[in-house]
Amino acid sequence: MEKNEIKIIILGSVGVGKTCIITRYKTGKFLEDIPSTQGSNYVQIIKNINNKNYIFNFWDTAGQEKYNSLTQSFTKNSQIVILVYSIVDKKSFEALDFWLDLVKKENGDTGYTLGVAGNKSDLYQDSKVPDIKGKGYAEKIGAIWKSTSAKEDSKSIEELINELTENYIRENNTKNRGSTIKLNNKFFNKKQEKKGCCGSDNNKKNKSGSNMAQSTVTVASKSEDEDF
Ligand code: GDP
Ligand code: MG
Repeated sequence: MEKNEIKIIILGSVGVGKTCIITRYKTGKFLEDIPSTQGSNYVQIIKNINNKNYIFNFWDTAGQEKYNSLTQSFTKNSQIVILVYSIVDKKSFEALDFWLDLVKKENGDTGYTLGVAGNKSDLYQDSKVPDIKGKGYAEKIGAIWKSTSAKEDSKSIEELINELTENYIRENNTKNRGSTIKLNNKFFNKKQEKKGCCGSDNNKKNKSGSNMAQSTVTVASKSEDEDF
């Protein structure tokens, strides 16, 4: 079966739940007492999405200032970038621009798919960042937004990663097809945007194809110990 290797980096302030998101994606469990990440950790997760096996090379980062230059260098050649804030920590939302800048400094504006996760959605009663703000920000920076909870279940996190993966693969295939199709595709994007084909969860990159929110409903994920 076909194998695809994807580098994902997860960025955001200390305590927003980056490590819990990765652990949830890897094990399907929420681990309450995980130690705070120092520097950066590498975690490999193998998943089956739409009958394709993916090797996700996750880079979990610390979010602490003293590691910022290290973190920036770890973003190099990332294919998927997930910016995380906590809905109960307004400052972590305001810090997203900083993390985005870090990525751009190292990688420029293209070649990767961006996601924004509004984590700790289980604490919605104490939310300091309305979903509409999170969605608006994601739209502005061309990212896919999802409300996630590492505590509640795996669904929201799997949906986000599935969407980002599908988007990245589609964008990448498009790029490999040559300039004529690229031009046509740009034209197609514009038409799609004007018509407002896609929900506000989807970004501009998303609009190059079918509605991803729908397509991911059927996505099945298997755990890492599956054969491939
Ligand atoms: P990181 O610094 O971004 O890696 O954050 P961690 O993953 O270490 O999580 C920081 C704290 O937030 C821990 O106490 C977690 O138990 C808690 N946490 C993480 N995700 C969630 C979530 O979705 N909901 C709630 N209620 N707590 C969470
Ligand atoms: Mg951590």
